Amino acid sequence: MINRQRILVVDDEKFNRQLLSELLLPDYEVFLAKDGKQAIACARATPPPDLILLDVIMPDMDGYEVLRRLRADERTCDIPVIFVTGLNEEEDEAKGLNMGAVDYVLKPFRSAVVRARVRNHMSYIWQRKQLEQDAFIDGLTGIPNRRRFDQAIDSEWRRANRHGMQLSLAMVDVDFFKQYNDTYGHGAGDEVLRQIANTMLQVINRSGELVARYGGEEFVLLLPEIAPEEAARIAERIRQAVETLELRHEKSAAAPFVTISVGGVSLTPSMNSTIAEILTLADNQLYLAKRAGRNSVSWELGNLFA
Ligand code: GH3
Ligand code: MG
Ligand code: MG
Repeated sequence: MINRQRILVVDDEKFNRQLLSELLLPDYEVFLAKDGKQAIACARATPPPDLILLDVIMPDMDGYEVLRRLRADERTCDIPVIFVTGLNEEEDEAKGLNMGAVDYVLKPFRSAVVRARVRNHMSYIWQRKQLEQDAFIDGLTGIPNRRRFDQAIDSEWRRANRHGMQLSLAMVDVDFFKQYNDTYGHGAGDEVLRQIANTMLQVINRSGELVARYGGEEFVLLLPEIAPEEAARIAERIRQAVETLELRHEKSAAAPFVTISVGGVSLTPSMNSTIAEILTLADNQLYLAKRAGRNSVSWELGNLFA
């Protein structure tokens, strides 16, 4: 089932909160906040609301101030806000819109209008979310792409650095894949890449672990928070799983089937190490795995940067 879109309704009057939630509950998941402080806390939840209906006049902190604070925080700055208010002067409306609210709804509510406006915005928000997600998925295999990997390694790197934790990374490369394409055709080659991607996904099941298509016939594994030996074991399981698919590859000098080589490294990031270095170290290991005859895993254990 598709998750329902989430709306945060902010209003200091209970009557209004009830009215709006009755109006919206059939179509959305509705969260309620009765003042600015609660609103900001709810907006920071994970997952965040898709849309906020924000009352303007409230004691303590008014809606304009709430919007200003939401915009100033990177966790909440992109959440669209519709102002809901009894202020119907042109300048009030303009002020809200100029601050970046996407729309303006007047009290007393005209239910059909509120519903229609919310629905229109939600449809646009949903489309935008889809596009954003598509931008991080590899079109051929359906797994995360290089862009998603770059983002993930950046945040995992910083997290591991902060907590002094191990981070493991492996480069995966298909053996003699040029010959595979030459023998069976590019379309068959594409199908092999899809099957390898699926196989890796099945082995990688812990949340936080990432498998991505790095480019061409290369994939990458990101394995945070586990011991080097365990990371190397996962890589070996993936190598075996691909071999066990028994996809015929008669021109391969490594095996009668499609195989992969894996080069991995585990280390504890430090202030004077970089992401480029860990990638180079993994690449060096991949080179060793290729040189050792392919269809193998080469892992650098230990911590070069300690
Ligand atoms: P090695 O065992 O040393 O890795 O040899 P190799 O032939 O796999 O390596 P090489 O880098 O010479 O060739 C990689 C091939 O991968 C060449 C390229 O056509 C193919 N390839 C890259 N991307 C795709 C793709 O998306 N689909 C298909 N079918 N082939 C691809
Ligand atoms: Mg390659
Ligand atoms: Mg290759």
